[in-house]
Amino acid sequence: MSDLDAFMDAGGTRLVRKVCSTALSPSRLPGLDHALNPYTRCGHDCSYCYAPYVMRTSPLDWGKGIMAKVNIPQVLAKELPRRQGVIGLGTVTDPYQPVEEETLLTRRCLEEIAKAGARVSVLTKSDLVLRDRDVLRQIRGAEVGITVNTISDARAGIFEHNAPPPSRRLRAARCLVDEGINTYVFLGPIIPTITDVDLEGLSQAISSSGVRSVMIDRLNLRPGMKARMCRRMVEASPSSLAEFEAHVDSDAYYSETTAMLESLLGEAGVRTASAF
Ligand code: SF4
Repeated sequence: MSDLDAFMDAGGTRLVRKVCSTALSPSRLPGLDHALNPYTRCGHDCSYCYAPYVMRTSPLDWGKGIMAKVNIPQVLAKELPRRQGVIGLGTVTDPYQPVEEETLLTRRCLEEIAKAGARVSVLTKSDLVLRDRDVLRQIRGAEVGITVNTISDARAGIFEHNAPPPSRRLRAARCLVDEGINTYVFLGPIIPTITDVDLEGLSQAISSSGVRSVMIDRLNLRPGMKARMCRRMVEASPSSLAEFEAHVDSDAYYSETTAMLESLLGEAGVRTASAF
């Protein structure tokens, strides 16, 4: 099978099948020893995603031509006996992006991790992770991070074009907690006029999900990102543009918003930490 041997449509997203030669790569992220990404690019297509800059891909192409590493479960199975430590599943792209519903590559990787008795930490913006809770329960110490950055489903949709709304993600967090799976919330990126629409409501919703640990991250602007986000804001919510522009570059805004979230979550008995 060649690298680009077949094309198909999946959920409206062009999917490219790709054969990989390695599954795990070293990770420099805190708490993670290895990185595992069944896909290249991401159909959630968030306007603020900085992964395309890391992967040297045009941000305009990031949500298209998703590459699925069709043989990654088999390659992973061969690598696992020689690796120790925690595997970060979804360090560059979302392992539960829309095409996963059809390809099951993330699920099959989790099955190999369970068989090998390895450790895993998953990060996702999708409640599709619930489909795999049976496998996650078989992995000792499995951890799942659910990303949310606002309590408002409508505001989330401005920059997160194809991701499930935060209300569904927080319900998924509740479900994972109830299943006894170690679950945290990745609260980020903080975005002016998106995150701050209701910090109390967001903190309460996170606390009510049963999650007791939150990692907080600010928006990391990369070249061209601010202009694209402003254009999107003009399309989706023009009345918010002035406030968005007033804060988006402001270190003081992010520090103050983070401090407020830390205080509100702390009062609710939720531990907070900075993501990076
Ligand atoms: S879900 Fe994550 S990887 Fe996917 S586009 Fe959004 S920020 Fe990027």
